[in-house]
Amino acid sequence: MPTYKIRGIDVDFPFEAYDCQLVYMEKVIQSLQNKCNALLESPTGTGKTLCLLCATLAWRKSLGPFSTGANSQTASSQPHEKLSQSGGSKPPTIVYASRTHSQLRQVIQELKRTSYRPKMVILGSREQLCIHEEVSLLRGSAQNNACRYLCKKGRKRHCKHYSGVADYVKDNPQLGEEPIDIEDLAKIGRSSGRCPYYISRELNKVVDILFAPYNYLIDRGNRKSLGLEWNNSILIFDEAHNLESLCADAASFDLPSGTLTACISEAKKCIDLCVGRREKSNDKTLNPDNFAILKALLLKLEKRIAEVPIKSKELGYTMPGPYIYELLADLNITQETSSKLVDTIEDASQLLQEEDPDKTKGVGCRLESISDILKIIFRDKQNAHASFYRVHVQEAEANATDVLKGKASRTFSWWCFNPGIAMQEFYGMGVGSIILTSGTLSPMDSFAQELKIDFPVRLENPHVISSNQIWAGVVPAGPSGYSLNSSYRNRDSLEYKQELGNAIVNIARIVPDGLLVFFPSYYLLDQCIGCWKNKTHENSSTIWERICKHKKPVVEPRQSSVFPAAIEDYRAKLKDTTASGAVFFAVCRGKVSEGLDFSDHAGRAVVITGMPFTTLNDPKIRLKREYLDLQAQSKRQGFQALKLSVLTGEDWYNQQASRAVNQAVGRVIRHRHDYGAIIFCDERFVHPNRQSQISLWIQPHIKSYSKFGDVVFTLTRFFREEVICGRTKLKLIKSEDTVLVSLQKLLYMEEANASFRRIRGPSPAMEDLSSIGCGHHGGGRQLLEQCSGELEVVFSCSSSIPVPDMELLTGENARAFQVFVLNL
Ligand code: SF4
Repeated sequence: MPTYKIRGIDVDFPFEAYDCQLVYMEKVIQSLQNKCNALLESPTGTGKTLCLLCATLAWRKSLGPFSTGANSQTASSQPHEKLSQSGGSKPPTIVYASRTHSQLRQVIQELKRTSYRPKMVILGSREQLCIHEEVSLLRGSAQNNACRYLCKKGRKRHCKHYSGVADYVKDNPQLGEEPIDIEDLAKIGRSSGRCPYYISRELNKVVDILFAPYNYLIDRGNRKSLGLEWNNSILIFDEAHNLESLCADAASFDLPSGTLTACISEAKKCIDLCVGRREKSNDKTLNPDNFAILKALLLKLEKRIAEVPIKSKELGYTMPGPYIYELLADLNITQETSSKLVDTIEDASQLLQEEDPDKTKGVGCRLESISDILKIIFRDKQNAHASFYRVHVQEAEANATDVLKGKASRTFSWWCFNPGIAMQEFYGMGVGSIILTSGTLSPMDSFAQELKIDFPVRLENPHVISSNQIWAGVVPAGPSGYSLNSSYRNRDSLEYKQELGNAIVNIARIVPDGLLVFFPSYYLLDQCIGCWKNKTHENSSTIWERICKHKKPVVEPRQSSVFPAAIEDYRAKLKDTTASGAVFFAVCRGKVSEGLDFSDHAGRAVVITGMPFTTLNDPKIRLKREYLDLQAQSKRQGFQALKLSVLTGEDWYNQQASRAVNQAVGRVIRHRHDYGAIIFCDERFVHPNRQSQISLWIQPHIKSYSKFGDVVFTLTRFFREEVICGRTKLKLIKSEDTVLVSLQKLLYMEEANASFRRIRGPSPAMEDLSSIGCGHHGGGRQLLEQCSGELEVVFSCSSSIPVPDMELLTGENARAFQVFVLNL
């Protein structure tokens, strides 16, 4: 395992590192050494996570040994001479956050590939970890409450898995010394009989590195419950491209009238239950008056919201953020009374669950949304945060039931327009460095300005691929020369839709295997596909039929519940040998554009059909723009003197759209041996300003083509040359114990210690290639030297390397093999 000296730190890296990986690790260490924040973009496939782990853990190790069973309990009391570097007397805890548990699972796989073994833990929810027979069947707040109830001292019923967790962790000091993911943690809990949820909570007090999904850290309540020592810690947000909107959403709320009505019913039910208990068994633990007060307050709130004067449905009703305190004070809800209400809601939730446990299994107690709202509103005693907010009431289309009841459906919202408040809180808690990283952070300016903290260390890394692995071009006009422009003015014109369709027919013909086509919105996706299915001439085929001649189509569904089936369908159509691949019609910001991997043949080209601007009529977008414009106005003078830029509503709006484009184009070219085309089918991408917001690694490759014929010519040549010379072609024909591949992959697979047997193909005319030594490791090179043209071979791994076991492979071989396995 090579070791690199980076800024004086020895970093063990599992492979020979590429230049861009060394640069990335240097930036990580720079930020840690200087105790400052970093914004690091590195395209997917550049080994970002591995670099991040190796650099951070190498730096951490340089401050003193990792916690082990022997020293983990006492680590905090043993100062280390180098700790002054980190600014504390105790080595800092590294908190590594990613969006989802499946992403964290991949991070832990990467940790296993390093030589570092810090003491670690991964945090999960009760939903994932509870092993109690009954409580594990509950969901959401009902589950949390039930668990809390069973863990309280002095209860008649208690959870047997809870007691003894602390002793179990103490008696098993080796826990967390080997990387474990959430499933491993659950297994440990089941085999020991101790609660895995609380084991992880106990372990997090003594670990060097902790893994958690974002919401555990961004949500204030969750964060507090972790009981972490934040001072001097290192906070890493991986896949951080949506962090600003997640932070803003976590600090905002929407209260639809339907939810409020359900809350009122629950409060009423609590009164009845409470009175019933008193009458039946003289149980006076709970006071029905408290629930009556709660119900009265909610009724008043409902009335106030219904009375708000809404002059225009489109604009709704907007007031400055601090107005919320005025409105609530009228209902006698203040900082002081709100905590009493929160307690009453907790009692209500408990009461409802005890009376009807089955009902709370699904949605849980609706009243708890009121408690969450109160916690957001009264988060700070000074209420200073309210200036970043707007109160908004929007009237929705009334449905039949609402009309019958004489009530219009309204949503009462308090929207936060400063996502920086969450980041500033970390800063306030003394966090040493905050590192945000992703494959697509650019445009970075709006990101940094939105989060309102300084990022002195920044990086926009190039890709590890070479220039012949990417074709990137702007196609401003289609085959008949009509402009491609999906702007509001143009998008409904028949000529535009037909021209775009004809361009896609051509692209589908040229691009091998998988093609992804992204639309700016579902509206445009529906409009275009609808138009393409129409016959223009009686005897001619439709545009849709012409596309389907080349590729089997799949359309991204709106409902997320059917999305997995659509993905399955796409994968199946890719394997279908009766067509030359499949095409996925999807939308920017949709599920296909976020986080899915379309490596190798699954995504050979991505087409962007326009700028995915969010709708200007959306009140949240309109108010956000106004908020930023107001801020920019007040800052402008001072910033101009300092030559700093200010973020206007328009800048933000544009950059949001560009980031969504970058996210979508990041679906192809997923590793260093991958290749593909990025095709911008909208004339607005010709503009240098627009191109400057595309991820930096793509920019040098972008060419604008004034003639569609040139697009056809260069794109055809690109794929033809890649097919002949490329190192990464893996044409999957059949997936069983053995796999049929095209010749071009052989050299590459040879590195993976594979053996080959030819079954069909041109010269040399021999049926058994063992005569030229191709039946064993190393056969790939000889086969390539001896044969010309396409042929098919059976590929199989030698018995010492079973197919799923990648651990045995190291260095380049491991990468090569992994690519292959992904294609299965
Ligand atoms: S202590 Fe653990 S096992 Fe027991 S109810 Fe709570 S989460 Fe479930």
